Amino acid sequence: LFAGSADFFSAAPSLGSLPPMKGVEIAFAGRSNVGKSSLVNALTGRTTLARTSHTPGRTQQLNFFDIGGRLTLVDMPGYGFAAVEKAKVAAWTELIHAYLRGRANLSRVFMLIDSRHGFKAIDTDILDGLDKAAVSYQIVLTKGDELKKSEIEARTHNIEAAISRRPAAYPEVLLTSSRDSRGIPELRASIARLIAE
Ligand code: GDP
Repeated sequence: LFAGSADFFSAAPSLGSLPPMKGVEIAFAGRSNVGKSSLVNALTGRTTLARTSHTPGRTQQLNFFDIGGRLTLVDMPGYGFAAVEKAKVAAWTELIHAYLRGRANLSRVFMLIDSRHGFKAIDTDILDGLDKAAVSYQIVLTKGDELKKSEIEARTHNIEAAISRRPAAYPEVLLTSSRDSRGIPELRASIARLIAE
């Protein structure tokens, strides 16, 4: 699935400009700096992919990538950034919520959480929204290379306990690192299962 081409094909600054729904769609979301670009690059083996979404002007958009013609990967704008005007945050929230509610072919949202920090208040706000909208999501811990083995176990256990009460959460938590590639094969397998469903 990830061996072939991965091409940026659309950036949607508003709901009116979303590309037509096609095949299975997955989305990646997380706080700014969580390691989303690095993970998307590690996942797709394309270093140019998520850089596109880091270029100024594209950061507040939904970026759509075609993966081998069978999967659409949506890179969502990072949230929780400091010093962004209120109006922008409101516009972001509106776009994201409308997208998440209205996209029938969206199979799963991969919610990226920094393994060193765990859930922040803004993350749980987003999860509340996903639970309410019944949008299926899976927690992906990033930067796992920064933790000791005991810390990894404690963090994973803690996150699993927190999501056990959340109706739209997929129970399996994935620990990943773009630095040492751990968890990337498991993440790919998780995505491949969605396509096979
Ligand atoms: P984004 O803002 O969520 O797209 O995050 P980036 O991918 O740009 O990464 C933010 C920062 O985290 C950068 O300084 C990266 O070098 C660092 N980073 C990303 N992935 C990892 C990882 O797996 N391990 C470690 N230790 N640092 C990472």
